[in-house]
Amino acid sequence: MTASPFRRAAILAIGSELLTPNRIDTNSLFVTSALNAIGIDVVFKAVAGDDRVELQALVAHALGRVDLVVLTGGLGPTDDDVTREVVAAHLGLPLAEDRTITDAIRRRFDARGWVMPEINRRQAMVPRGALVIANPNGTAPGLWIEHGTQGVLLVPGPPREMRPMVEQMVAERLLARADGRRVVRRVLKIAGRSESRVEELTQPVYSRWRALDTPVETTILAAPGQIELHLSARGNDAAGLDAVLDRAAGEIEAVLADDVFSSDGASIEEVVGALLLSRGWKIALAESCTGGLATSRLTDVSGSSAYVERGVVAYSNEAKIAMLGVGPDLITAFGAVSEPVAQSMAEGIRDRAKVDVGVGITGIAGPTGGTESKPVGMVCISVVTPPRTLVRTFRFPGNRELVKTFAAFTALDMVRRMILERVKGSEGVEANTSG
Ligand code: AMP
Ligand code: MG
Repeated sequence: MTASPFRRAAILAIGSELLTPNRIDTNSLFVTSALNAIGIDVVFKAVAGDDRVELQALVAHALGRVDLVVLTGGLGPTDDDVTREVVAAHLGLPLAEDRTITDAIRRRFDARGWVMPEINRRQAMVPRGALVIANPNGTAPGLWIEHGTQGVLLVPGPPREMRPMVEQMVAERLLARADGRRVVRRVLKIAGRSESRVEELTQPVYSRWRALDTPVETTILAAPGQIELHLSARGNDAAGLDAVLDRAAGEIEAVLADDVFSSDGASIEEVVGALLLSRGWKIALAESCTGGLATSRLTDVSGSSAYVERGVVAYSNEAKIAMLGVGPDLITAFGAVSEPVAQSMAEGIRDRAKVDVGVGITGIAGPTGGTESKPVGMVCISVVTPPRTLVRTFRFPGNRELVKTFAAFTALDMVRRMILERVKGSEGVEANTSG
């Protein structure tokens, strides 16, 4: 039988824990990314517990609809792991023990000085005709079954076991059966704009892309403080797709200008880190309501010790006075959450740390503590660089966690704009109120 290409896939995530409020299926995201990269679309996915009846129904549905079914989970040695048995029974394939697998599992136990429990032999049961995929990180091997023109891939649930096995199968089996179409994606990250404003500004641009020879699809996603514009194009020529997406990204950047802080997937902390490095500048942060979150995000980047000098959490008035030299009179006159205090915090940490860039963040994260003149979500942020000082007041929406997230993100974005020396006019950076 000549192998027809795999175009449409379904992913079934198996595991009763995935139906509780405590665990979420993330394997399908990885599998989707691996399949999309070789031009296979995921047309649906489903989560089922360790339940023969539900799983059998899903397998039947999937095999009726797609070329390729990927199942993760339920390959363990215990009675509640049913994926192998259900798939074999549905396809009418008898199971037989593969002694080489049993021996391999036994050796894993021996290496730890343990005796292999007899139930692990279940993991050595192989449906007739299936290809066994070795699992270097666990006991359960994967299985690849060709059923007529269709493919069925079974991999274990633990992500660190599943990932290398999926990668191996993509390279060794699936790539050859994909039809050569690829999906190339580009993520533009945008700061200082609401989702609706991004949509309004970019819609006239991206609506034209659908009529191109290689259409570009767009999706807008909101996260606290930032908007993401995902661009994708599909076709056979990877270099050509890259060129199409470069052009499309360029058109968006022409409209949104400096609000686009990343077009290569980099996070705001990576972008700020690269800018600081390029200037040879160091940074120190004084944080109140964010409790160190902005510093934490900067230090998420490997190599950040080259430019992060310190971050202090100055939560109480006393701390702001003692650690940063904020004048008590300033606090009395304007309040701890005020532009003069934010600026004094930024200047204070910059002087004390002897760095180029100082940041001060003070605000009301809520849900208590707000007043009419200083409502919950009000945050004052100041950034001081060698050539200039900036201080702005924002009103961020949402609960305590969101206000902190918005404030930390916005502080980093202000640093970015200050380093680029392209800060918007006197009305300040538009607060992003969506998400
Ligand atoms: P398994 O023994 O193959 O059923 O999988 C065992 C463990 O893998 C579970 O306890 C989960 O922690 C993890 N796991 C299973 N399925 C998934 C999934 N779809 N996404 C993320 N983790 C998973
Ligand atoms: Mg399980």
